[in-house]
Amino acid sequence: MHETGLSEAIVEAAVRRAAGRRVTGLRVRIGGHVVDPEVVTQGIQVASAGTVVADAAVDLVLEPMTVRCHDCGRGSPVHDHLAMVACPGCGSVDIEITGSDDVVLESITVDAVGAGAL
Ligand SMILES: [Zn+2]
Repeated sequence: MHETGLSEAIVEAAVRRAAGRRVTGLRVRIGGHVVDPEVVTQGIQVASAGTVVADAAVDLVLEPMTVRCHDCGRGSPVHDHLAMVACPGCGSVDIEITGSDDVVLESITVDAVGAGAL
């Protein structure tokens, strides 16, 4: 499943960034994809088992793509598939879909107090 690879990539990036410290929180930005946040969160929890990320709270930031209409010039976020077909403002199909399709590990929170105590 697509989300599984996604979750594994996020955990890998977090582990690398943590450099041995225990991670208490992850902030992940998901652009473009229409994903189920629960599936991604669960995937991260599964993929992080046994790593320093295992007990981290997962904070997902979903950034939908935006659609730009060539007819009325309106730009709006894409919330459903219909908005990718026609402009939500005027109904024109002369639209352009923009926005990043990236999944980015935005930040991690590490347990600074616990570091070295283990
Ligand atoms: Zn329009």
